[in-house]
Amino acid sequence: MSQKQEEIRAVLRTVDDPELPNVSVADLGMVHDVLVKEGDVFITMTPTFAGCPALDFIKKNVKTAVEEMTWVESCEVHFSFEEKWSTDAITEEGKRQLKKHGIAPPPENYQPGEEWTVDCPYCGSDYTSMENVFGPTACRSILYCTSCRNPFEAMKPVVDYVIT
Ligand SMILES: [Zn+2]
Repeated sequence: MSQKQEEIRAVLRTVDDPELPNVSVADLGMVHDVLVKEGDVFITMTPTFAGCPALDFIKKNVKTAVEEMTWVESCEVHFSFEEKWSTDAITEEGKRQLKKHGIAPPPENYQPGEEWTVDCPYCGSDYTSMENVFGPTACRSILYCTSCRNPFEAMKPVVDYVIT
């Protein structure tokens, strides 16, 4: 990776997903490719969940953040629907940030159809119950911790996601 590509990646770690405040698009594993040609930057991103209304917003935020860099003349952001995103692409830092904001990160190496258990992001207990499978967005669920009595959100595992 070139110096410039690394600089772009560092900037992308400061652009948050509007639906998951304080978790950057880079830590969510949405950055698929960064190409630099002189002062022109081309970024390919993978959308996390289909029909995410925030895609245009993310595009704009990424473009604005990258174009603030002194050597960048233009930045094009493209969402590729051919690349598949899975919750395994979320970085350790991304998972740490999710937990900090009361959202349990998705299980690792999840296989479709498997039972899915979630640890409470506040106290770590696995004594949690699914309160409501429909969270504020399609990608999250509301759960309830029976140990510390806090409601919390959990990200659903996504593997081999196919856009229909
Ligand atoms: Zn708890």
